[in-house]
Amino acid sequence: MYRLAVLFCQIFKWGLEIGGFYMEIFELMAKAKIKRLEITRGELPPDPRVTQTTTYPLLREAMNAMKHKKVVFFYDSVSNMRSVIAIHNLKRGPALGGFRQWAYNSEWEALHDVLRLSRGMTYKSAAINFPLGGGKAISWLDAKGKTPAKLKAFARALVTMNGEFITGEDVGTTEQDIDFIYDQIKGRTKNVGVICYSKKKGSSGDPSPFTAIGVVEGMKLCAKYKLKKNKLKGVWVALQGPGNVGFNIAKMLINQGAKLYVTALHKESVDKVIAYAKKRKGSVQAVKPDEIYGVKADIFCPCALGAVLNPKTIPQLKCKVVAGSANNQLEDEERDGEALLRRGILYAPDYIINAGGLINAGTEAMDRTKGEKYSVAHVMRTLKLIPKNLKEVFELSRKKGISTVKAANILTEERLQ
Ligand code: NAD
Repeated sequence: MYRLAVLFCQIFKWGLEIGGFYMEIFELMAKAKIKRLEITRGELPPDPRVTQTTTYPLLREAMNAMKHKKVVFFYDSVSNMRSVIAIHNLKRGPALGGFRQWAYNSEWEALHDVLRLSRGMTYKSAAINFPLGGGKAISWLDAKGKTPAKLKAFARALVTMNGEFITGEDVGTTEQDIDFIYDQIKGRTKNVGVICYSKKKGSSGDPSPFTAIGVVEGMKLCAKYKLKKNKLKGVWVALQGPGNVGFNIAKMLINQGAKLYVTALHKESVDKVIAYAKKRKGSVQAVKPDEIYGVKADIFCPCALGAVLNPKTIPQLKCKVVAGSANNQLEDEERDGEALLRRGILYAPDYIINAGGLINAGTEAMDRTKGEKYSVAHVMRTLKLIPKNLKEVFELSRKKGISTVKAANILTEERLQ
């Protein structure tokens, strides 16, 4: 039903484009000088002109299907900042989720990303039983890319969330960006507002190393479960995207004696991994981005963007395990989760295995809200939940003969209740 609605809206959009009546939400905001637009599920938008835009029907349908609480659009005419903060669920506490800055190809692509990512955060928090809700922020970058003016406008937007949303690093957002935002908003928000700014400013810094530790711990459990190996020594891992998280994973894997195939969009990222491996006598082979799915590896470790597991890539896989940090790895949860199950590939659900960053950020946010000191030891202890949760998921999946995604959702939805 949802897919039919999406198709219908796409055809409607093409019709409007041909007829010259096409207008998207950010375009309306620019023309009508609207700086902030809050759309709550089940309510009419505050400005009736929004219902005439081509993206609104798609957004309403998706919010209903995924049960989002609200979506807030921010537009700044001076910097051309186009940001969206999606709040999926606040039942367990304030929504926590990273800030992604990306040059999306369309408004709908940006919205679809922020909606899926924010729902993922609700599930991620519930899976580890944290008193936090799910949210996410994106900035749809233009040709000028990231600029201080855009970041400043985003910081002003964040303050208007009144403590309902806490953010930190994500794809395209560095620790320096988060420091910059923190400097703009400090003392101006009801809640902590941003998290994981630099250690020199008193926070815990980039959460990627914690995400990487969680993924490697999860990977070890997968190796035990599926490859019957207690160690990663000698195991071949195909790593896609050695960025903030991926490079940390690569280092740990090399140090544990695993062998790597690695691919990235930029040669420098691959060279960094090769240089690290050389120093430690590790084994790394560089491959082209579209070759990574078909290499003869034991484990595929996706650490780039989402939707990389789909009907085109799954048949190419030669691995027995998929375990990586990327969010929303499956293009379609049900279809692609089943396809992996049928192929006998053990899939570690993304929001379970990549919860390390949230464990760190959430621990810091909770400690600071309570006025307590952030403790790395507390974070390291909590990271043990990742292999524990994965084991529960794999066992339920085996017992019921269902995909691991389905099993993860069943267990998490029980916690969400
Ligand atoms: P990043 O931007 O530092 O790294 C991503 C890397 O992937 C970049 O180097 C990019 O060039 C590369 N890439 C993009 N498309 C590619 C492709 N088709 N083939 C090969 N390489 C490609 O981002 P990050 O912070 O390392 O996050 C990576 C993934 O993990 C994201 O999906 C993110 O949402 C998820 N994640 C990150 C954290 C965290 O702590 N940073 C926590 C949980 C989940």
